[in-house]
Amino acid sequence: EKLGMNEIREKFLSFFESKGHLRLPSFSLIPKNDKSLLLINSGMAPLKPYFTGKETPPSKRVTTCQRCIRTPDIERVGKTARHGTFFEMLGNFSFGDYFKKEAIPWAWEFVTEILKLPVDRLWVSIYEEDDEAFEIWNKIVGLPPERIVRMGKEDNFWEIGTGPCGPSSEIYFDRGEEKGCGKPTCGVGCDCDRFIEFWNLVFTQFNKDERGNYHRLPNPNIDTGMGLERIATIMQGVDSIFDVDVIRGITNFVSKIAEVEYGKDAEKDVSLRVITDHIRGITFMISDGILPSNEGRGYVLRRLLRRAARHGKLLGINDTFLYKVVDSVIENYGEAYPEIIERKDYIKRIIKLEEERFKETIDQGLTILQDYISELKVQGKTVLEGSKAFKLYDTYGFPLDLTKEILQEAGITVDEEGYTKELEKQRIRARSSRKEDNSLWEQDIYSTLGDIKTKFVGYDTYESDSKVLA
Ligand code: ATP
Ligand code: MG
Ligand code: MG
Ligand code: MG
Repeated sequence: EKLGMNEIREKFLSFFESKGHLRLPSFSLIPKNDKSLLLINSGMAPLKPYFTGKETPPSKRVTTCQRCIRTPDIERVGKTARHGTFFEMLGNFSFGDYFKKEAIPWAWEFVTEILKLPVDRLWVSIYEEDDEAFEIWNKIVGLPPERIVRMGKEDNFWEIGTGPCGPSSEIYFDRGEEKGCGKPTCGVGCDCDRFIEFWNLVFTQFNKDERGNYHRLPNPNIDTGMGLERIATIMQGVDSIFDVDVIRGITNFVSKIAEVEYGKDAEKDVSLRVITDHIRGITFMISDGILPSNEGRGYVLRRLLRRAARHGKLLGINDTFLYKVVDSVIENYGEAYPEIIERKDYIKRIIKLEEERFKETIDQGLTILQDYISELKVQGKTVLEGSKAFKLYDTYGFPLDLTKEILQEAGITVDEEGYTKELEKQRIRARSSRKEDNSLWEQDIYSTLGDIKTKFVGYDTYESDSKVLA
């Protein structure tokens, strides 16, 4: 059955409601009272206080569809079938209530009875020492042992420092030989896109102490995460997450603006997918109250925006265009997230301003960067001076990561230490000049927006993001 992304989301949430879970709406991308995390990157992240016992959950069983940002995956976007920097994670959670023997059969029930995925294409991985999970998959679910793959700590054990942690079990779908890398070692856990990982079940059953000892928790937790785009890719039998109904709608919109047909040229396809991915993250980040800046979350936003703008250039788009693509994001995501409909004009204005700002310098910057590359090639060097990378940043608005990425395509790296030194020098200069002149670089551009800042006073987390504007 070809289910749309909106239908799959609804089926998941109502399935877990039928198992006694409370459905909560997606949390903001901005973590609350959590200094360890820049942006929400999983369904579990905003629920941390319930897992640690710091706060009492409204129910011991919760289900959500959480919007997520994962910038560590940025370079894989558009190249693999399964990675976005923006994606939605479906999850069911137990705060000291049910455990493995419920979580595993429910996951199986959802996948095989509600979604009706063919059983002979499904594989699972477990942590090598987790015999309990093996027994449940084998005896209760009835999965043959050869389809239950035991993997090590790196793949199937979840922990960060000390505190609650535990083994995990992941569900994979075999998309067939033609999607694989063809290596003899290809199988579950291979990095190619044949065995696509779509659901991770984490069994938080230990508390790790300072000495590295694991103590069994009296009331262990369940934390699961299923990538909505990935399961939709599987259900719809399409190539990648960018071909899924609502996402393809955006890709088509971008390809129309660029006058580039999707599926004709591999490099252009990557650019179309990068723009499609980034504009979703950009839209939701701004909707959640983040503004472009040179630090923290604002830097992530600026980097995504300028990276998308550069890919627009690669496609031959010479005018600002990203703000227009927001219409398509809203058309495709507005049903699930009505708040972006409400904030549409605001979101578009912020994007347009940032695009215009970058447009003034991007061409010059790209030309200069090209000159640097040619120069280095002539000299037989492979490292760009830090001061030059800094000039690109300071004068032409190129985030360091963007410069690094473009250079990397030519096999060149950046002297980052030198870059940081220049940055420090500039900070000191700025600090002393600020005493005389109270205007910050960031300040003037967004001050033209007048009252927009007050729109978000209700967000207690917004304050930290608007620091640069204050
Ligand atoms: P992968 O190994 O493919 O990078 P992961 O192991 O990093 O995935 P988890 O941290 O286990 O992913 O997250 C739970 C689920 O969220 C994954 O099984 C997948 O369905 C989804 N997911 C994770 N990262 C992404 C991403 N970058 N884009 C889309 N979906 C993702
Ligand atoms: Mg990953
Ligand atoms: Mg993985
Ligand atoms: Mg995983």
